[in-house]
Amino acid sequence: MCGILINKALQNYGKIKDIHKHFSLLEPENVEICMETLFLKQYLLMERIEIKEKLIETIQVWKKKGYKIGFVPTMGVLHQGHMELVRRSMLENDKTVCSIFVNPLQFNKKEDLDNYPNTLGNDLQLLKSAGCDVVFTPEADAFYDGVELNKYNFGILGEVMEAQFRPGHFEGVAAVVKELFLVVTPDNAYFGEKDFQQLAIIKRLVNLEKLPIQVVACETVRAKSGLALSSRNVRLTDEGRLKASDVYDALSFCANNTSIFDSQTLVEMAVAKLAQRCEVEYFEIVDEDSFERIENWEESEHPRAFVVVHIEGVRLIDNMSLNP
Ligand code: AMP
Repeated sequence: MCGILINKALQNYGKIKDIHKHFSLLEPENVEICMETLFLKQYLLMERIEIKEKLIETIQVWKKKGYKIGFVPTMGVLHQGHMELVRRSMLENDKTVCSIFVNPLQFNKKEDLDNYPNTLGNDLQLLKSAGCDVVFTPEADAFYDGVELNKYNFGILGEVMEAQFRPGHFEGVAAVVKELFLVVTPDNAYFGEKDFQQLAIIKRLVNLEKLPIQVVACETVRAKSGLALSSRNVRLTDEGRLKASDVYDALSFCANNTSIFDSQTLVEMAVAKLAQRCEVEYFEIVDEDSFERIENWEESEHPRAFVVVHIEGVRLIDNMSLNP
């Protein structure tokens, strides 16, 4: 029975997770056997691909079978924030590709690139046990070989906050994501709201390049303290993590006090609070669609606060909607 279910799901759906749909048909003792088999299958089935051409071949086979493809681009050091994107992709698609690639082009400071953590072994385990179909781990030289880098006009999005403080960052992000999109040709691509400006850049990129890809925004996953999960958090000491929770407190303070204070006052109060224990790079309240700075609340239906701080030499980014 288990074998039939597994084969049926593989043939009909191409995904192990779909077998869960049939669990109601099984006796309880068989559910356990089925789960064990699934577990083993997951370990056997995830494929690691390092060469672009090989990935393109795999995708072509999937496309011929009419599979819907979900894609989750990452820089590795995976945590539950990334895995939420993977989980969502697996739910909404027949096949899920996750890429792990620390893109040198998006680091404007060499030491930031050099210090970027690497936990590949653990990342692969996490993806395997989640049931991800393919993990793409290219080498930078081969990945960019022959790729022409475009210059995009992202408008104000390409000028403020991350664009202002990390010159060249979004050009690097656009270059890697466009190339990944051309290789993976996903139906759906999953990005976290934690990097809200990046998400907006990707939507703009898809628009400018007229790519038939749905960009799916996923909510920020946070630790109990409110700290947004980030690959960079592994470099914080316990004390640093404690200080980092001030970021969530400052954002929440703004979200809870829009009826009392104007935006400029909220920014000043938030910066004053954060500056007690962190180095603040920027704190802005802007409209989340236009990215124009807000002077009066009437100017925006969707105000959002954006912040970057440095703690123990680690750059932490976060944002929060200020809509009630
Ligand atoms: P990164 O590996 O940092 O480039 O992130 C890969 C993707 O995961 C990006 O779309 C991020 O926005 C997303 N991501 C990172 N951290 C989180 C989080 N805490 N919650 C939700 N998405 C996240």
